[in-house]
Amino acid sequence: MITIGSNCIGCTKCVRVCPFGALSMVDKKAVVNSACTLCGACVPECPVKCISMPAKATPAADNSAYRGVWAFMEVINGGIRPVGYELLSKGRELADTLGEELCAVVIGDNMTPFFAEISSYGADKIYSLNGPSYKEYNTDIFSHAMIELIKKHKPSTVLYPSTYVGRDLAPRVAAEIHVGLTADCTGLSVNAERNLVQTRPAFGGNIMADILTPNHRPQMATVRPNVMKKVVLRAGSNAVVVNEVIPLSANAGRVKILSKHIDDVHSLDKLDEAEVIISGGRGMKNSSGFALLKELSEGLGGAVGASRAAVDLGFMPKDRQVGQSGVTVRPKLYVACGISGAVQHIVGMEASDTIIAVNKDPQAPIFNVCKFGIVGDAHQILPRVIEEVKKNK
Ligand SMILES: Cc1cc2nc3c(=O)[nH]c(=O)nc-3n(C[C@H](O)[C@H](O)[C@H](O)COP(=O)(O)OP(=O)(O)OC[C@H]3O[C@@H](n4cnc5c(N)ncnc54)[C@H](O)[C@@H]3O)c2cc1C
Repeated sequence: MITIGSNCIGCTKCVRVCPFGALSMVDKKAVVNSACTLCGACVPECPVKCISMPAKATPAADNSAYRGVWAFMEVINGGIRPVGYELLSKGRELADTLGEELCAVVIGDNMTPFFAEISSYGADKIYSLNGPSYKEYNTDIFSHAMIELIKKHKPSTVLYPSTYVGRDLAPRVAAEIHVGLTADCTGLSVNAERNLVQTRPAFGGNIMADILTPNHRPQMATVRPNVMKKVVLRAGSNAVVVNEVIPLSANAGRVKILSKHIDDVHSLDKLDEAEVIISGGRGMKNSSGFALLKELSEGLGGAVGASRAAVDLGFMPKDRQVGQSGVTVRPKLYVACGISGAVQHIVGMEASDTIIAVNKDPQAPIFNVCKFGIVGDAHQILPRVIEEVKKNK
């Protein structure tokens, strides 16, 4: 936050220019609150120069001591979550640009059978922590393991999936080792100064921001599933496996999994990894419209998605929203019913292999991105499609 000196004359100029409502007047003096983003807009406005920005962060001792691009491989139900391979594929590009190693970090129980596949996505090295303590994700145990590995090997970059696990793990690690973290990146590259350019939507998705972490290492980012493309580079087990043993922390037993409840209907995991997605928009009109989508998705073994308008109308929960401010998907088949095709929806599903659209308006923009389009009332068309699917099952 900015600091306001005691010589404030209460002119209110800073309050008026603050774009975030972070300044207000109390007892005729300006005061700042936690909405301050350090944008600096208020500083030149002050006629008595009483506003100061915090001192710049001191550069890390030596960034060049940190080398290697790491991808954290999330384990789910005893297997590697596909987003891990997406991180490796992007990580390979970054590592090649930097001239550094690409390393996968695998924390789990009996994960060796997956090492050949991890290697095929270009990993030079696999840091493996193996044992029953790592069978299920546990915040204390996994964050301790990551922190110790990072301190020992000093990577320049660490990528995590933007999943429930990644979003829990990465901030803990970042806070503990005092580095930044950029969440939900949609683009990653390396600039001329060898810094990671972390691109993500900002201000509600209205602009794309490039975020740099020039003074600290490692640079850490989370990446949403289905945003980066998976690229198999080679067959076989070329990666060097480094078996690590890290004593459990004193906190290891603090959190225990007592029981598990898997909610099929609202499972985000199912949406971002589904091969078939039947999505509905405002045009589905009500929850019985969505019941048709559910019936079709069950017939095809898929998941139900929604546009933001449908979510706002309460037809589906927020974690079902496909698009810029929802989930990015890349299924084999995406069926968009009663969805107009706004750009914010399209960016979340355009990488699907085959897109089919059902819309009663022949001019709807969704028809510009679909492979097959049906002009008509989804409420009349879907029951016929469901009937055919049932017949052919
Ligand atoms: C910063 C920002 C982020 C956003 N993020 C997202 C996001 O992540 N995901 C997202 O989806 N949107 C997002 N939006 C909103 C987006 O701009 C659109 O408003 C939204 O996608 C529209 O949803 P829709 O297509 O369901 O509704 P509409 O645009 O209202 O379209 C409804 C469609 O249904 C058709 N229709 C009506 N009745 C029938 C029928 N009986 N049978 C067949 N078709 C019918 C109509 O012809 C129309 O094309 C975002 C917007 C902003 C500003």
